[in-house]
Amino acid sequence: MKSPILLAMNLQCRTELALNYKAGSQIARVISEDWCSRELYCAACSSDGLVSSRVNTPAIDFVCPECDQCFQLKSFKTWHQKKIPDAAYDSMLRAIRSDRVPNLVILQYSTGWLVKNLLLVPSVFLTETVIEKRAPLGPGARRAGWVGCNILLHRIPRDGQIRVVANGSAVAKREVREEFSRVRKLAEVPPSARGWTLDDLTIIRKLAKPRFSLQELYGLERYLQNIYPHNRNVRPKIRQQLQILRDLGLIKFIGRGSYAVRA
Ligand SMILES: [Zn+2]
Repeated sequence: MKSPILLAMNLQCRTELALNYKAGSQIARVISEDWCSRELYCAACSSDGLVSSRVNTPAIDFVCPECDQCFQLKSFKTWHQKKIPDAAYDSMLRAIRSDRVPNLVILQYSTGWLVKNLLLVPSVFLTETVIEKRAPLGPGARRAGWVGCNILLHRIPRDGQIRVVANGSAVAKREVREEFSRVRKLAEVPPSARGWTLDDLTIIRKLAKPRFSLQELYGLERYLQNIYPHNRNVRPKIRQQLQILRDLGLIKFIGRGSYAVRA
């Protein structure tokens, strides 16, 4: 049996791989992909490794050999807490609407190439609400006219931002897998309706209370109205989504317009 020390995540990347490349972005990609192929495990099942798949599918970097979950890797030295740049806007929308978005892995490395933070966003949290269309690239750009998108992390509830590495230390695998399995049932909500379900969860999380009332949620109505400016039924929507969140086991109804978040 391996010793616990050998089983722990090694957060140091192999910097010698950089010698074969010149461009900074390419170096970052090669080094972070190498690290993931050695250290990253599947959060959805008990597989302790993922298989690189980039050659065949540009949007998917890793696949779990046991349960087929797909993962896309984004790595940054500095990362904006609010939004991160992603791929083409149109193809992202298509992927969301047909429920084919991979899980997102956001890796932040230090100057010395230690993995500092690693965030896993389960694919169910990547809804149209969290995708922002960027301005087309200008005429001087190599891909002039190309339209990319940003992922708005601040619109993803913390249930959808699972920490695998936090401030330079690895979170226990068991904890990561528990977090992932807690939100897995959200996949049962069709992608066309899931946006509202998650927006409701976002405002519940914004309250930051273990128990809350419907009136308190209504207090955050404006947040949802900004996302859906033409919708005149925000309050009924809030109530409808509470029932869905209850059926998914994420909240509990305590009665008299009171609710509790399930840990
Ligand atoms: Zn798996």
